[in-house]
Amino acid sequence: MAIHKRQRVYFPRSVAANSVVKYWIMPIRVLSDQLASQIAAGEVVERPASVVKELVENAIDAGATTINVDVRGGGRQLIQVADDGVGIPADEMEVAFMRHATSKLETASDLRAIETLGFRGEALAAIAAVSQVTAVSRTKEDSAGLRLTLEGGQKNSLESVGAPPGTVLAVVNLFYNVPARLKFLKTVTTEKRLIDEYVTRYALAFPDIRFRLTHDNRITFQSSGNGDKREVLSAIYGPETAKQLLIVSQPETTGDAAKEISVSGFAAPPNLNWANRKQISLFANDRWIKDNRLTYAVIQAYHTLLPTGRYPMAIIFLNLPAENVDVNVHPAKTEVRFRQANTIFGAVQRAVRETLIADSPIPHTTHFASFQHTGWAATAGDRGFTRREDPGAQTHLSLDWSVPETPDMETGSEAAAPVKAELGGKGLPIMRVVGQVGASYIITEGPDGLYLIDQHAAHERILFEKFMKAWDEEGANRGMAVQGLMSGFPVQLSPAQANLVSDQLELLTRLGLQLEPFGPNTFMIRTVPALLTGLDPAKALLDVVECLADDEAPLHSTIEARIILRVCKSAAVKAGQTLSLSEMEAMIRQLEACQNPHTCPHGRPTLIHLSATQLAKEFGRT
Ligand code: ADP
Ligand code: MG
Repeated sequence: MAIHKRQRVYFPRSVAANSVVKYWIMPIRVLSDQLASQIAAGEVVERPASVVKELVENAIDAGATTINVDVRGGGRQLIQVADDGVGIPADEMEVAFMRHATSKLETASDLRAIETLGFRGEALAAIAAVSQVTAVSRTKEDSAGLRLTLEGGQKNSLESVGAPPGTVLAVVNLFYNVPARLKFLKTVTTEKRLIDEYVTRYALAFPDIRFRLTHDNRITFQSSGNGDKREVLSAIYGPETAKQLLIVSQPETTGDAAKEISVSGFAAPPNLNWANRKQISLFANDRWIKDNRLTYAVIQAYHTLLPTGRYPMAIIFLNLPAENVDVNVHPAKTEVRFRQANTIFGAVQRAVRETLIADSPIPHTTHFASFQHTGWAATAGDRGFTRREDPGAQTHLSLDWSVPETPDMETGSEAAAPVKAELGGKGLPIMRVVGQVGASYIITEGPDGLYLIDQHAAHERILFEKFMKAWDEEGANRGMAVQGLMSGFPVQLSPAQANLVSDQLELLTRLGLQLEPFGPNTFMIRTVPALLTGLDPAKALLDVVECLADDEAPLHSTIEARIILRVCKSAAVKAGQTLSLSEMEAMIRQLEACQNPHTCPHGRPTLIHLSATQLAKEFGRT
């Protein structure tokens, strides 16, 4: 086939350039309006949560005092946002849905200092292009409202209706005409979580607005609009967490008004920490932003105060002159560019750090007290060793530390009969406890030298195997053996957390955590698994909530496996906890009996071996 000069030839990218391929020829065409809209829509409306975000931003820009968000099917079936804002004038109703139609910008110079959340005039057009939209709006001045329906961006109907002042936008069947996008949507749980995130973050930034969010007719979040940010925090994270948050407040006055930056918000004390950095929320002039550098500034502020692998929670509001932040970086408007990025980094880090130093009861030497006289305290302290738990919380271990007469746990003859170290098999050699170092490691002697055992990792392994064995044998069917809590243990959660828990009550009961609904968003903990009597019940429930909310967990792991892993971690002895000789001996016996004693359930090593030969070498004896 002859190729015309003006035509382009495209090769499928998946085929090597030098192989014989089919090609196709396409002349340049201007895309149809509808196709162009669909393509553009992709950038603004990535997923259901983006629709929620754009509609809520519009409601805020419209001066609403009440915003109701109703979602069905994680946003695929319905997203409806109703506000009592200024409304859209009748003659602008259709224009609002055109691309690049906005009432918030007039000239290019306005772009330099954006005061509203929206300004690109893209959202409504983009949303309409990929869904079926019904918009009802009325201004105070108009006596009646208008209802406009669109499908795939095309107007269906426009009629006059009775309506209160304000705007209701209902988005149905999102991406019905973009199957490619539908395929990439994550689970309904993920979409719900992202929607929750947007709504709750905006409720935090705008505490004077009353927000209500429902999923499938269930209220998952509500704020009163009374202006109290801590009250909003309580509705998001639960009162237990909210009341612990420290206030960050640092007006930065440089004298130069144009450069003024103020940092305010909340930061969790170090003992409240998370497995990922998702609990760090940043706002620039009340816009929720994503900024890796500033997130890092917050993490840095906690330097040496958190255990490795744990992250803080912080909600930081930056206020600065609008012209010093460029929000026009990406259509989604969550990425921004700061004019004085370094100054801002420093300001955030300093504000958070100072809050922590001033207010937080940072655990230091106290829990190394027992080592001070042996001269170890300084070393441990220098490494900035801190533990998650309140130092005074656990004075003794309520676990069964009795040394079994015979190898316990019937883990099979292979493990029960000690395996010799030199075999390099799965088991551990018989070891003799020598002592504890840094209140974190147990020193033992084996047939071939010295072992250092990480007490937390080892205990986690022990509890995990015990639990899994009991679960497989009968827990999964008949439920785990439990220990009743004398008078119950009430825990109040946020509505979203309470919903997650309500959905899993049956599973939690089988796992040994019996909960009774006890007033709004509150559960009474009745039992804990008998195997984990050392568990702090409230902490365990919050850990479980963290598991239930974490939908990015590896695919192969079941929800119960993740919960078991989490509660075992929580119940395990921590680093920094002094153990008696008999406690250490019991732990070593139980570790020896494990199927996989060499690693904790997360894969970190439980022990380090220093062989007699190595020791001799180090001392120059060989
Ligand atoms: P932008 O917010 O960037 O201006 P949108 O496409 O989101 O663009 O909205 C287009 C216009 O529609 C807005 O500028 C505003 O005038 C009007 N509008 C949208 N939503 C609302 C609302 N909830 N209340 C009042 N006016 C609205
Ligand atoms: Mg908008």
